[in-house]
Amino acid sequence: MDWFRPISRHIIHPLYVRREGRNPYRYLRDLDRSQFFSPDQIAAIQLERLRTIVRHAYDHTEYYRKVMDQYGLNPDSLTSLDHIRTFPILTKDDIRNNPDSLISNLHTKERMIYKRTGGSTSVPLKLWVDQMAYTFKEAATLRHNSWAGYHQGDKMAALWGNTDKPRSLREKLFGLLLARVVFLDTLKMDAPYMRAFIQQVRDFRPTVLMGHAHSIYYFARFVEEEGVRDLGFSGIISTAEILYDYERAKIEQVFGNILFDRYGCEELSIIASECEAHDGLHVCAEGLYVEVLDADDQYPGKLVITDLWNHGMPFIRYEIGDMATIKTDACSCGRGLPRLGRVLGRTADVLYTPEGKAISGISILDTFTIHVPGFKQVQVIQDLIDHLTFHVVRDDATFTDESESIFGRRVAEFFGPRMRYDIRYLDKIPQTERGKYRFSICNIPQPKG
Ligand SMILES: [Zn+2]
Repeated sequence: MDWFRPISRHIIHPLYVRREGRNPYRYLRDLDRSQFFSPDQIAAIQLERLRTIVRHAYDHTEYYRKVMDQYGLNPDSLTSLDHIRTFPILTKDDIRNNPDSLISNLHTKERMIYKRTGGSTSVPLKLWVDQMAYTFKEAATLRHNSWAGYHQGDKMAALWGNTDKPRSLREKLFGLLLARVVFLDTLKMDAPYMRAFIQQVRDFRPTVLMGHAHSIYYFARFVEEEGVRDLGFSGIISTAEILYDYERAKIEQVFGNILFDRYGCEELSIIASECEAHDGLHVCAEGLYVEVLDADDQYPGKLVITDLWNHGMPFIRYEIGDMATIKTDACSCGRGLPRLGRVLGRTADVLYTPEGKAISGISILDTFTIHVPGFKQVQVIQDLIDHLTFHVVRDDATFTDESESIFGRRVAEFFGPRMRYDIRYLDKIPQTERGKYRFSICNIPQPKG
């Protein structure tokens, strides 16, 4: 019996957030109800909030007043959600080039929460979230955690990068009393370290495992190889990376059908996550208006997202750089929140044939690992319009003389006969500085035409 759980959940966490001047539980009560509203009711809430944020952005930010005047847009003209499509897209460069004119004149940076995106491939974005929006986002995260069976006060095991940076005593106490987490640093996942982590999990008995998709997959494979069967998680939350089909299959084979994929980002916090029906990802629609341009349940489209809460630095039609498919049928869980199907990752990870035709890098990688014997994992990097570098983790048990020629035929099939390539065999796919993996990397500009 976990006697500390109710104390942490009902006393320590509420006290902590109140001391910080925030109370997410106020929003959580509403969110727990509104998730079961009908799609029409939810759309009505969104329209109301969308009109408010657009009006606010026009009245209180230099950037939006200029843009809306330039486009001849009347801030009170929004009569339907679709109408927002007449507004221009907000790009990452727009944010980089207008660091101050996007901030509302009713807010100051000092009184907001500062965020910064990871910058392994581009200049990081700096952004600010106002206190009320931040609190709402905390509440949204609590709701989506609960779908995976994780409630405040429960114990968690986390697979994360960069966990051993020096932590203050206060943070350590926070970890101990509040978050109740055991961490495994994904930047050093070798066998002795993972064995020690498994022992920690056995002693601590967390209910939920959370981490980067690929690290969970890697951990699941290790758990299987070691013959470990007693970890007893009731839910696994996969986040911060694209979850591939073969990864999901392995994780579910090892731990059972308890995997909840999640999609979010630094700029907007949680965007969408899986419910217990495991059939797509429900959007946090009370907080965000998510457009998926020209998408259906087969073909992905660009994600364009409006933050309905952050008045401090409004994000209206923000092009996040990811693509997704959508699901239009009702979910069997009864929630009225709209759903994404698959999130396909960054548009920047799209690759090109020598003729300039776009190919979703990640959707072909599954094929390489499934159909080429001895290819356990593949990372593809496009460095020229007619050249690819493949990083391959070999499985020596199944690798044959044929493997490379089978692979070569597949490459020609997808990219055409003019595509040249090299294979480099590695022990492990390299990670980004934040301990994440990118499997499809395009280092060339989008070809014209
Ligand atoms: Zn559902």
